[in-house]
Amino acid sequence: MARHYYLGMAAGYSGVDCLRHTFAVGRQKDCDELVSYLSNKYDGQAVLCKNGRSALALALMAYFEPGDAVIINGFTCYAVYEAVKAAKLKPVFADISKESLNYTLESLEDVMADSSVVSKKNQDADFSGKGSYPDAVGKKPKGIIIQNTLGNPVDIVEIEKFAKKHDLMMIEDLAHCAGVRYRDGREVGTVGVAVAFSFGKDKSIDTVSGGALVLRDPCKKDIKAPSESPKVSEHLRARFYPLFGAICRGLTYVKLGGALMRLLVKIHFVERSADNRLDMTQRISKFEAKLALRQFKGLKKTGELPIRGFNLVRDRSEVLAKLRKAGYYFDGLWYEKPVSPERYYKKVHFPEAKCPVAVEVAEQIVNTPCYYSKKDLIGANKIISEYKEENE
Ligand SMILES: *Cc1c(COP(=O)(O)O)cnc(C)c1O
Repeated sequence: MARHYYLGMAAGYSGVDCLRHTFAVGRQKDCDELVSYLSNKYDGQAVLCKNGRSALALALMAYFEPGDAVIINGFTCYAVYEAVKAAKLKPVFADISKESLNYTLESLEDVMADSSVVSKKNQDADFSGKGSYPDAVGKKPKGIIIQNTLGNPVDIVEIEKFAKKHDLMMIEDLAHCAGVRYRDGREVGTVGVAVAFSFGKDKSIDTVSGGALVLRDPCKKDIKAPSESPKVSEHLRARFYPLFGAICRGLTYVKLGGALMRLLVKIHFVERSADNRLDMTQRISKFEAKLALRQFKGLKKTGELPIRGFNLVRDRSEVLAKLRKAGYYFDGLWYEKPVSPERYYKKVHFPEAKCPVAVEVAEQIVNTPCYYSKKDLIGANKIISEYKEENE
């Protein structure tokens, strides 16, 4: 199993992309150009960051006070949770729908109703705390992070109304969805008070690492743009990841590729995406700014471009085994736990009882890595369709 998971790494980089990435030379001018492009496009003040989670943390710090509660999607990446925590805020998870993988108006109203229950810690004597949000109960959320999971846009008109009604500031997280449009025609990133981007592995803008934020509304606090140079080891890891990936996949004939990638991860030449450290002082690598700008300019202007399709299946391990046998690398699941990856899940104290759909989806989801063409996927879809969960 692990062999295939590792072979999926950097598979989104074509030969040309890989060479471009490996040899790109970045200058300060490239950073300045990306800042002015983002400031313009998203109509605010752009700041470049080390990665998406640092960008999101800075955005949150700009608008919220320590201790504030913010609503996040109950099916997400550990990076989001980490950012909320780094900004000293309380995450409140809202359950999702099976169709969009986003929270729904209903689950959001539930969260608000819950937040009006006063916790034992705060006042009341008989709060049991079971399956709930021990941190956030009794605290009315001040904000909501809009994630547009896997590129599926939320119903922005409803969400905007909801946010207005409950006086919530909206932060848009574009890690999965840069370039996508909401159903009312507005582009993602043009609605919230602030927007955060990740340029991490397999994100909609992928330069291996890097991130940015755009502050659209005047914020309460000034934030300091990250200015420290990237660590040499981190720069090199981001620089050579696509090349390492290509070499390992090239070696699959002799079954060595998977083993080599596993070794590269072990000796920290390659980093698993979730392990990228949050650091609000470190700036982006300049070559990443250059490549990110290139990708932003290449984003299609119309329609939805979900970065990953998904299916819900029975007996997922069996499906994945069959896919592997047929030569598909589908194992890097988004997400195998409501807050992924699994190795960080325990830290989150996820309120499973409050988010049953997210728990179920995390057990059933198989998503299509974006490096396969439609034609390549015919065989995979055949396998998947035998196991598909019928939506009731
Ligand atoms: C990956 C991700 C981020 C941030 O990722 P970094 O690895 O820190 O760049 C933020 N939000 C979501 C939803 C993500 O999937």
